[in-house]
Amino acid sequence: MRRPGITIVGSGFAGLCMAIKLKEAGYHDFVILEKSADLGGAWRDNTYPGCACDVPSPLYSFSFELNPGWSRLFSPQPEIWDYMRACVDKYGITPHIRYGTEVSAFEFDDDRAIWRVSTSGGESFQTHAVVSGIGALHVPSIPDIPGRERFTGTAFHSAQWDHSCDLTGKRVAVIGTGASAVQFVPVVAEQAGRLQVFQRTPPWIHPKPDVAIPERMRRALRMPGAARTLRGLVYWLLETRAMGYTIDPRLMKVHQRVAERHLAKQVPDPGLRARLTPDYTIGCKRILLSSDYYPTLTRDNVELVTDRITEIGERSIVDAAGREHEVDVIIYGTGFKVLDALDGRRIVGRNGLTLQDAWSGGMEAYLGVSTSGFPNLFFMLGPNTNLAHTSVVFMIESQVRYVVDCLRLLSRTKARALDVRPEVQRAYNDRLQRRLERLVWTEGGCTSLYLDENGKNRSFWPGFSFEYWARTLRVKPEAYELIGTSPARG
Ligand code: NAP
Repeated sequence: MRRPGITIVGSGFAGLCMAIKLKEAGYHDFVILEKSADLGGAWRDNTYPGCACDVPSPLYSFSFELNPGWSRLFSPQPEIWDYMRACVDKYGITPHIRYGTEVSAFEFDDDRAIWRVSTSGGESFQTHAVVSGIGALHVPSIPDIPGRERFTGTAFHSAQWDHSCDLTGKRVAVIGTGASAVQFVPVVAEQAGRLQVFQRTPPWIHPKPDVAIPERMRRALRMPGAARTLRGLVYWLLETRAMGYTIDPRLMKVHQRVAERHLAKQVPDPGLRARLTPDYTIGCKRILLSSDYYPTLTRDNVELVTDRITEIGERSIVDAAGREHEVDVIIYGTGFKVLDALDGRRIVGRNGLTLQDAWSGGMEAYLGVSTSGFPNLFFMLGPNTNLAHTSVVFMIESQVRYVVDCLRLLSRTKARALDVRPEVQRAYNDRLQRRLERLVWTEGGCTSLYLDENGKNRSFWPGFSFEYWARTLRVKPEAYELIGTSPARG
């Protein structure tokens, strides 16, 4: 491959936003490497029935590309995927995308201050900067339950939905009750002869205020300023939800009451209700939105199983109470390997330092974007930039603007690379962790993937989203070491 100035990895929301904004800023020399045959990241992979956004679409979209045509407040997956494709066409990104190209390694050449990128197809090329738009939701997590390999029925993960499998009349088991499962369980229950939902930890669930957006309203949203006003309203409404997350877990009580009322209203049976009531503070795990999940669990052909799974047999699942449940199909709604999404790639920074070694005490970055020892490697939705209360597309846009500002700093100073100073990264993360220690993800009494093995939160931003926006508005040059201000060799 010709040597691209900037290499973007992944064509989900993050990769596409980076590409669009690079072009807008006058950087045309970039490539997007996409491991699959199509674009879209999580919105390409997750095609399970019922898949939709749980953040209102006016906000779960680019601020510079508002879509007055959403059919619902919470758009279904095909519409979001279409939106992404439309953005690619409109902004002329297609010629930059290399499909079927999986990155296996990035290695920094200290002498030339340049990255060498290797792909699993055996290609290798140099590039000045790398933007990782890899995201956290692309490695399906399938639990290692004893006997899993012996199962002779059909089994698949929610992110690898087997559309050739007809569930009509079948005995189906769903393992997991997270954000994906609550969306597909109601659809599966309509088809299956019998459905058993294996729950390890009950989620807190709020009603989903989803509505169809009628054509009349869509026309109105095409009027100047209308779509932007709606976006602003949704933004500030969701931002008020941040209080309990960012200030004090006790403020989550109001959200917990909404969830308790929702459960009480939808599940009249006190026994079932007790098994569906979480024992941790709401918000410690993601708050799910659904108005049809609880009613589904009260159907005659559906059973909630709360005894732990001990074994999978050739055609059954055995639980800790000793019951053997005969099943034809197992659907794993068991989520993703969030904290090791980058594993399996060789990422080597300055002086031979691998990212695995740099992050052996826990992954961390400055503003979630730059990690010391890895110059010109920029993470999108990197450590501690996930959000629980609003749209991550907002974070992506802040990060993209920040990266463009970093590139401008390089142009201005004629430096070849910038590397965040270790003491800056340390101070930033110490402050961040002090804030996170007393927040609901740590204090809420649940186990979650958001915490690493030392109990440190490596996933969430502890503040309001506008605080992150403000902090990423301008690069502070003093936070970075500028490398190679003299002309480069090679
Ligand atoms: P998830 O939220 O991580 O849920 C995984 C579920 O599987 C949990 O109920 C978990 O139980 C269970 N589980 C995991 N390992 C298990 C085991 N060994 N035995 C029994 N149960 C097990 O995964 P997800 O539902 O796929 O969602 C992943 C992420 O995707 C979400 O956090 C969200 O960010 C995103 N998502 C977003 C949307 C959207 O609309 N924007 C929609 C769907 C998903 P425990 O709770 O006990 O661990």
